[in-house]
Amino acid sequence: MKRILCSALIAGLFAGAAHAAPAKSTAASSTSAARSASGVDKAAFDPSVRPQDDFFRYTQGTWLKDVDIPADRASWGAFNVAQETVEKQIRTIIEGAAQDKRAKAGSDTQKMGDFYASYVDLERRDTLGLAPLKGDLARIAALKDKASMAALAARFERIGAGSPVNMGVRQDNRDSTRYIVGISQGGLGMPNRDFYLQDEARLADTRAKYLAHVEKMLTLAGHANAAAEAKTIVALETEIAKVQWSAVQNRDPIKRYNKMTVTGLAALAPGFDWSTYLRDCGVGSKANEVVVSQPSYLQGLDKIIAATPLETWKSYYTFRLLSAYGTYLTQAFDDESFAFRGAVLSGTKVNRPLATRGVAEVNRGLGEVVGKVYVQNYFPAERKQQVREMVDNFKLAYQERIETLDWMSPDTKKAAQAKLAKIAVKVGYPDKWRDYSSLTIKRDDLVGNVMRTREFEHQRGVDKLGKPVDRTEWGMTPQTVNAYYSPTLNEIVFPAARLQSPLYDASAEPAINYGAVGISIGHEMSHAFDDQGSQYDGDGNLRNWWTKEDGEKFAAKAKVLVAQYNGYSPVEGYHLNGELTLGENIADNAGAIMASRAYHISLKGKPAPVIDGYTAEQRIFMGMAQARRGKARDAALIAQVKSDPHSPSEFRINGSLRNHPGYYEAFGVKQGDKMYLAPEERVIFW
Ligand SMILES: [Zn+2]
Repeated sequence: MKRILCSALIAGLFAGAAHAAPAKSTAASSTSAARSASGVDKAAFDPSVRPQDDFFRYTQGTWLKDVDIPADRASWGAFNVAQETVEKQIRTIIEGAAQDKRAKAGSDTQKMGDFYASYVDLERRDTLGLAPLKGDLARIAALKDKASMAALAARFERIGAGSPVNMGVRQDNRDSTRYIVGISQGGLGMPNRDFYLQDEARLADTRAKYLAHVEKMLTLAGHANAAAEAKTIVALETEIAKVQWSAVQNRDPIKRYNKMTVTGLAALAPGFDWSTYLRDCGVGSKANEVVVSQPSYLQGLDKIIAATPLETWKSYYTFRLLSAYGTYLTQAFDDESFAFRGAVLSGTKVNRPLATRGVAEVNRGLGEVVGKVYVQNYFPAERKQQVREMVDNFKLAYQERIETLDWMSPDTKKAAQAKLAKIAVKVGYPDKWRDYSSLTIKRDDLVGNVMRTREFEHQRGVDKLGKPVDRTEWGMTPQTVNAYYSPTLNEIVFPAARLQSPLYDASAEPAINYGAVGISIGHEMSHAFDDQGSQYDGDGNLRNWWTKEDGEKFAAKAKVLVAQYNGYSPVEGYHLNGELTLGENIADNAGAIMASRAYHISLKGKPAPVIDGYTAEQRIFMGMAQARRGKARDAALIAQVKSDPHSPSEFRINGSLRNHPGYYEAFGVKQGDKMYLAPEERVIFW
């Protein structure tokens, strides 16, 4: 099952926008300027807004007014500031490696240095033109019939170029002790099916620009009939979009769990050569059974394969390849890739500098190689223990709270406590690092380097089949500014980079950190119990441990939250999708409540200090708002509303606090205040 990622990472929505560039001075956060013993960033406050009316703008109205989103970014906020610090650190590591003339062949330093050097050598990229893709373009040209497309789809899976079918090795959701092959929908060039099918004006505009982009990429590749070809490609993708499941449908792990034999798979979509596909993906005889996420999609795809001429498929796969590798080719391909992915989809004005993107690419491809040096150089050893202690207090807070819940039956409580006790916690970095020794990186072969790192990752997944589940593995690198909960491993994971300024303030009194980091700890833990997490037991198996009645009570509460978030609009004409964002909104709701409780546990009976004129409770909320600080361009917000299960920053804060009894107390919120909700309209889960 997919991991539940949990930052306010609107920036990370598209790979092109996820990594940091040096900020313009106008965009520098005010966070460092006005820190005090409390850690509250008063300089960002807007005194003209009352905390009772709009807490988000009260705590950062001045920041929102004064700080512009950098031209090369789709969004900007506390996570980006943290990310930028990490980027600078990583850049030092990688550029140092590139200049190290004594690096031994095959060493970590050689790999980082040569990968980076291959990326920034634009002259060589321009000279090579399309040559690095020659082999794969020839594979496409050689397709003789539709049955032979399966081998091509497998090749594209290995090199991360995409096809209408995705394959991945994951934990079996109904037997979390073993790995299994998963098959799911894929193959679209825009973020999801809504972009192809919905009637809204902005999406229609994006579609028109997408068509032009497809044509331009084919023209750059020397195709004579690019305009006509582009039309057939987008028409084919639209047909594929029609049979895909929506983002909301995909949130249901039971409906997505359809185990079948390879023979059963072939019966579902006989027009696709599954045995060749699985063999060429490298799983062959190790995959007698697979789990299909969207069976109706494969049936629909089967009809589309039959109805679409082979020539159209050739065009489609050519564009898939150009699209996946455009940013590693010539300047012209790179610019056109940005013009659509960066400018149109994210609203970014200019592309980030080549060197910055080179660092990001090495970081993506050689994650734990870079991570190992990163934690050695930049992560204080004692922080691991500090954060573990915080996490322990959150566990206690959940334990106490579950015991005293008035709406949950004793049976469900018992199961919830059992699951809570089994939640594993990873902080900082892995105990065991990945072995990259079989990966070859060459200084003059950027496309080859990217292909080999992607194949390396693919093979790492395939090699897991038949082996016991590795509970020490990390799903994020330590230098990632994010955190996650894995339902199948029943664990929460906090990479080192999530635990630094401005998201963690080592010198401040703890209340601010119980807000800024605690919101995230409480959030991740709640994923173990939310509408999705409640469907997995403490061992990570898809098995509902709630009584029917308790499940209904939870669903009724969830319904209130869905209605609340459906009412929020980040851009005129666009409302949040309360269903799509439900799990994350529940987690934010619970995270805020648990942060207050865990902080009080940490006091061990001592009184909570008042600092800088704020009570501890007030500072916890201010910490939350500081960590979730952010703004985004309209295009990025629209893409987020359509496809991201997280709500935009403003609603993650205000939407949670309106339901939090502690917020009403801490700021004396009363009827008539804009954030006020009547007690019967509020909803809390834990
Ligand atoms: Zn989350």
